[in-house]
Amino acid sequence: MRNVICGRCVRCGREYPAVPNLTNCECGGILDIIYDYDEIRSHFSKETLRTRENRSMWRYRELLPVEPETPEPPLRVGWSPLYRADRLARRLGIARLWIKDDGLNPTASLKDRASSMAVAKAMEAGAKVIACSSTGNAASSLAGNAAAAGLRTYIFVPSRAPKGKVAQLMTFGATVVSVQGSYEETFDLSKQAIDRWGWYNRNAAINPYLSEGKKTVGLEIMEQLNWQVPDYIAISVGDGCTIAGLWKGLKDLYAIGFIDRLPHLISAQAEGCHPINRAIETGTPWEPMEENTLADSIAVGVPRNADKALMAIRESDGLVVNVSDEEIMAAQKLLGTDCGVFGEPAGVTGTAGLKKLCEQGRIPADAAVVSVVTGNGLKDVANAIRFCGEPISIPSDMDRLLAAFAERGVEPG
Ligand SMILES: *Cc1c(COP(=O)(O)O)cnc(C)c1O
Ligand SMILES: [Zn+2]
Repeated sequence: MRNVICGRCVRCGREYPAVPNLTNCECGGILDIIYDYDEIRSHFSKETLRTRENRSMWRYRELLPVEPETPEPPLRVGWSPLYRADRLARRLGIARLWIKDDGLNPTASLKDRASSMAVAKAMEAGAKVIACSSTGNAASSLAGNAAAAGLRTYIFVPSRAPKGKVAQLMTFGATVVSVQGSYEETFDLSKQAIDRWGWYNRNAAINPYLSEGKKTVGLEIMEQLNWQVPDYIAISVGDGCTIAGLWKGLKDLYAIGFIDRLPHLISAQAEGCHPINRAIETGTPWEPMEENTLADSIAVGVPRNADKALMAIRESDGLVVNVSDEEIMAAQKLLGTDCGVFGEPAGVTGTAGLKKLCEQGRIPADAAVVSVVTGNGLKDVANAIRFCGEPISIPSDMDRLLAAFAERGVEPG
């Protein structure tokens, strides 16, 4: 790879050649992929992008850690819409707001960006089998992207994973192990199995290429905004790979001169599980927390990528905010009614955090903000129905319809 120099440990600085099956540093630290920005700048410009037809995350190949001849995985991942959300902006009292709907990826979450990268790297490594543990979305995403590429998958999920995600896994033909325990216990079992059978490892905190896939969400936001940098980008945080990836993408663009400043990140976590935000709030190392939230994708008590996430929040001079399950579900409803966007609970947690910060007066009224919706609401319909209520249910009878409308105060017309 001409554009990549090495993988460098974020903890001790040790460097490793960028082979396809690169994992953690000997010291246990996570690696960061280091690029040769001068090399990239010499042949990659905004003009290059303007005429490029590829509408997927792979349109940024110059900034991705793959060999030039590596084929693009088959599923179309990325280039999700960035919607201008004026009504919601007014409601929140901010000048400009955009919603990046990453629930529109092929398996319906931002995780597809990492899985597409995992499949590309597994193909480079000549692997036929990929494995991961996941709260649900990384799993269904890996299973789908691997199935499309003809690779087999072994997947470990905690037994609490919602039905929609399990249905995806079974449909994509993965071998699925539902672990009766926490996400941490799920991760541990997957690690032992991967060590034992030598599968290609898609665990995001171990495989340093995956956040390079996730960073494309940041690249897209900036290109879709015509390189006009917003003041804040809000996103939900579990393991921390997503926010770290987002930050990496923004820093890449800064390094090659596509943008002239960097936004502040907003790290949104659940009140019932916010080890990363707590570390920022208290200025102390992160400590494990219980996993008490219905936002299953970010119920991560032992974050696997805390180092990179904490660095991203601090470097961006970012904000942290914790939201209750009620605030998460209220944001889900708000995104639905104001924007027509249906996100899963973890998917809308960034928006819930933004709303709370606005109410606390911590976001200036003239701010331009992007809020990333990271997963689709159809993955977990049980919670949505519990919160938003059931529809009017009557026989096909006009009188009953009139009575039902009157009862609920609906005034048609
Ligand atoms: C995984 C996930 C997140 C958080 O990403 P991390 O890398 O675990 O921090 C947020 N939202 C959704 C929908 C997810 O699936
Ligand atoms: Zn190290």
